[in-house]
Amino acid sequence: MIGKLEKLLPGVCKDVPLAPHTTFQIGGKARYFFVAKSSRDILKAAGAAKKLRISFFILGEGSNVLISDQGFNGLVIKILNTKYQILNTRLYAEAGVSFPAIVLAAGKKGLAGLEWAGGLPGTVGGAVRGNAGAFGGEVKDSLVSVECVDEKGGIRKLSNKECQFSYRSSIFKHKKWIVLSAVFQLKKGNKKLIEEAAQDHIRYRKERHPLEFPNAGSIFKNCDLKLIPLKLQDFVKPAVKVDPFPVVPTAFLVHQAGLKGLRQGGAQVSEKHPNYMVNLGGARAKDVRTLIEKVKRAIKKRFSVNLEEEIEFL
Ligand SMILES: Cc1cc2nc3c(=O)[nH]c(=O)nc-3n(C[C@H](O)[C@H](O)[C@H](O)COP(=O)(O)OP(=O)(O)OC[C@H]3O[C@@H](n4cnc5c(N)ncnc54)[C@H](O)[C@@H]3O)c2cc1C
Repeated sequence: MIGKLEKLLPGVCKDVPLAPHTTFQIGGKARYFFVAKSSRDILKAAGAAKKLRISFFILGEGSNVLISDQGFNGLVIKILNTKYQILNTRLYAEAGVSFPAIVLAAGKKGLAGLEWAGGLPGTVGGAVRGNAGAFGGEVKDSLVSVECVDEKGGIRKLSNKECQFSYRSSIFKHKKWIVLSAVFQLKKGNKKLIEEAAQDHIRYRKERHPLEFPNAGSIFKNCDLKLIPLKLQDFVKPAVKVDPFPVVPTAFLVHQAGLKGLRQGGAQVSEKHPNYMVNLGGARAKDVRTLIEKVKRAIKKRFSVNLEEEIEFL
């Protein structure tokens, strides 16, 4: 098979460890691995996988995934098309551009709209697909359009509305379409204030999040206040925040349930931010998954709340 794949996709590699391609530093090997440095490469790789009936997985910076210890018996397409451009107040970025890079670039030009993302890791493609958000902002707030590849290999251009953004979701997630690039509309503003706002968020994350350990950000989505049982509404009230709608931070529930510091093998519910799990060293995906199940069960038992994972499993 590798011979056929190499013919269609020169540069494809075999048996590549995936852990170094994730912020969790966890996961087995990819049977096949290809670095796509342009949108053409992405199309070529997805086309080759389809032709040879190999399943494929799109990998950005790996900051929102937990890859299994067995790895992936297919083709991992690592997105590394990294061109971006700012014209007046419009920012055009390919999917493989790092989000921190565009936050920085927008700030330098005195363009507002992405400050909320100060310290958000990952690529533009990953952020668009998951409608990433923080500090009251979300990708959808400034996004104009997205160029993507559909399941048949056709290129489509979608408006903001057509992307069907919702809390940590979009049409790209539902339909497994591949983001090639995105256009953002920014606003002229005060350069100093914009840069300071982004820096404040970076500082906040450094102080409050366990960035000293490999992790994948928040494990669970926050909980919609409407889904919290009536008898608990007073109890959760002090913790409620509007981001992007009234939610109870999952970190609050995990903390109240006494689960901070819970360990399984090399994985631990963070002491610093209980909606994070950290890799203390040598954690396996199995450890993290067991920990996730333990936390879900405990939260269900204590608060009758069903936690929903934010991270993706492979
Ligand atoms: C320390 C830390 C803090 C974080 N804080 C936040 C936060 O505040 N808010 C937030 O929303 N998230 C947060 N995250 C999660 C993560 O940073 C975001 O979800 C990010 O947008 C994921 O981008 P990525 O390139 O790393 O995607 P990956 O982890 O590589 O992939 C995630 C999913 O997106 C898919 N994908 C990736 N690229 C594409 C593409 N081009 N087209 C289609 N699908 C694609 C993958 O197949 C996978 O299913 C945090 C993570 C960490 C480690």
